Amino acid sequence: MTRFSELYALGRPVLSIEIFPPKTPKGWANLYYELYHLTRHNPGFVSVTYGAGGSTRDQTLELTYEVRTRFRVNSVPHFTCVGASRESVREYIDRTIAIGAQNIVALRGDPPRGQTEFKPAPDGFRYAYELVEFIRSYTDQLDIAVAGYPEGHVECRDLKKSTEYLKIKVDAGANLVITQLFYDNQDFFRFRDLAVQMGIDVPIVPGILPIIKYSQIDRITQLCGAKIPHTLREQLLRYEDGSHEQHQVGVEYAIEQARELLENDVPGLHIFTLNNSHATSKIVETLGEYFGISDT
Ligand SMILES: Cc1cc2nc3c(=O)[nH]c(=O)nc-3n(C[C@H](O)[C@H](O)[C@H](O)COP(=O)(O)OP(=O)(O)OC[C@H]3O[C@@H](n4cnc5c(N)ncnc54)[C@H](O)[C@@H]3O)c2cc1C
Repeated sequence: MTRFSELYALGRPVLSIEIFPPKTPKGWANLYYELYHLTRHNPGFVSVTYGAGGSTRDQTLELTYEVRTRFRVNSVPHFTCVGASRESVREYIDRTIAIGAQNIVALRGDPPRGQTEFKPAPDGFRYAYELVEFIRSYTDQLDIAVAGYPEGHVECRDLKKSTEYLKIKVDAGANLVITQLFYDNQDFFRFRDLAVQMGIDVPIVPGILPIIKYSQIDRITQLCGAKIPHTLREQLLRYEDGSHEQHQVGVEYAIEQARELLENDVPGLHIFTLNNSHATSKIVETLGEYFGISDT
């Protein structure tokens, strides 16, 4: 296992991938198949999301454990403040350490479906920076990643303000920033410049989501407030939703997006896989030299 601070000090871009715990037995079987392909690319780590409202608490830790023991890859659980009292945060942290993880992605989480405003749990946290502070004071056995927003957060469209809040999270003890998905690299570069100007000095890793199916990405971007550039949208909409041709456009776009990022000194690339290996494999097979991977 490797801590974020060690991994990103190695001097070459780190490939990381994100998966989620499936809801059905078929989904789990499929994920193991996809993980076989994904882990062949030797990612620096695989991160496992934490379901809305804490709905996957046990599965997140179970999958984190499975990735490490079955696939022998560094794995990292996510955690959110949704519904979490201090006692349950302590318990989750203890379990995270007990399964051998050395890192965690610490988030506030979104308001549960049907609610527009985030309400902290009784004795819980309102913002992710409080969670980071809490974990830091509780243990020194975990490195911590937090979320950054190249286009501002959906509840705070002011990029400057949103990045000032990120600085507070980093100062609270985060070792790494992983960004929300975005499709215009200029948004990332602008955000990174601002973050550096503000004194954020931990690695800032761009998160990218290759487009597999337009309707799915349209829904996700609406929820998280990321924009799909007009020309990309037009290209995608030339083809039937979910068709092979549409997927092809999405994968080619992701490869070129990743190439430009890697040529502009990013410390790594975090790929939101949606539990599907195809696009990630295409990116890594095309751009493997940047990660020092020649045999994928
Ligand atoms: C890489 C990545 C992984 C993710 N994984 C998950 C996951 O596994 N499960 C899940 O449910 N969600 C996940 N999310 C989504 C995330 O939970 C949402 O984006 C959530 O709305 C905000 O979480 P945060 O940790 O950024 O919160 P915060 O940093 O607390 O920000 C929340 C809001 O409060 C504002 N804010 C922050 N600090 C302050 C302050 N000091 N004063 C006033 N306002 C402030 C921010 O501008 C923002 O609008 C992920 C996001 C990313 C980018």
